Amino acid sequence: MDDILAEVLAAIEPHRGEGKVADYIPALACVDPSKFGIAFADAGGAVHGAGDFEAAFSIQSISKVFTLSLVLEKVGVAIWDKVGREPSGSAFNSIVQLEREDGRPRNPLINAGAIAVTDQLIGAGDADAAIGALLALLRARSGDAAISVDEEVAASEAATGSRNRSLAWFMKTYGILDNEVETVLGAYFRQCAVAMSCRQLARAALFLAFDGRDPASGAEVVAWHNARRINSVMMLCGHYDNSGEFAYRIGLPGKSGVGGGILAVAPGHGTLAVWSPGLNASGTSAVGALALEKLVDLTGWSVFAPRP
Ligand code: GLN
Repeated sequence: MDDILAEVLAAIEPHRGEGKVADYIPALACVDPSKFGIAFADAGGAVHGAGDFEAAFSIQSISKVFTLSLVLEKVGVAIWDKVGREPSGSAFNSIVQLEREDGRPRNPLINAGAIAVTDQLIGAGDADAAIGALLALLRARSGDAAISVDEEVAASEAATGSRNRSLAWFMKTYGILDNEVETVLGAYFRQCAVAMSCRQLARAALFLAFDGRDPASGAEVVAWHNARRINSVMMLCGHYDNSGEFAYRIGLPGKSGVGGGILAVAPGHGTLAVWSPGLNASGTSAVGALALEKLVDLTGWSVFAPRP
């Protein structure tokens, strides 16, 4: 695996810095676009990495996978009363579909759907407890108690998050959100602002590659059927209107974030995290996707051609 990652690093070198760094969240605009890191967490829990794989970045929408994991365990199938599980074919922050579909978001990985999931994670509790549960999951699974929210990024998004406020208020009028809009958004902006490295992210998500269990400790993080369902939603919805392209090129469930991270799951093998801040038009890391494409080329991994 170390040789494969070195080969991936060499392959992306001519492309380093490609794509456009997200600037609609001002605190993300100043990230160095030439950064690149990749990590793979294996079936024994060991992490292999190359490039800037120990550098922390803003996980942004990758957080939606972990809040969905917590909520599926917490409220079970009742979450599907609040949010659908169909691909949207639309941008991550689209509002038009919400109106046509009576305020119920298409899936839990677009912004509207993730805001609805965070509302369920808060439940009758408070926003701090919801973020506390998310951080507890990430810290326990990655074995690093230092993982935390970058409050500067959270404040930057809160100050400029008019579109997410529109989505949330719209859902509120349809009774999708139980809590107050600003309470839910406060938690949502903070979950997106969690800072993690590729090493931590790949390790934290390892349960998704092993039917809900952390393969190193044997701990059940989510029920096996939930792990499979989360992977299916990632496969079909993880990259918004770019999900088909990602499935076609990479063939693994994945989730992008506008911080330039991508998490990908190779069931039975392990998890991959890649980071390169430049994005394509759909908000997926341009060089990150190239790197994953190269990696599956070298390993032969695909959910469409499972290998023992
Ligand atoms: N925090 C970002 C937003 O809500 C997350 C979007 C993303 O990573 N695709 O706009």
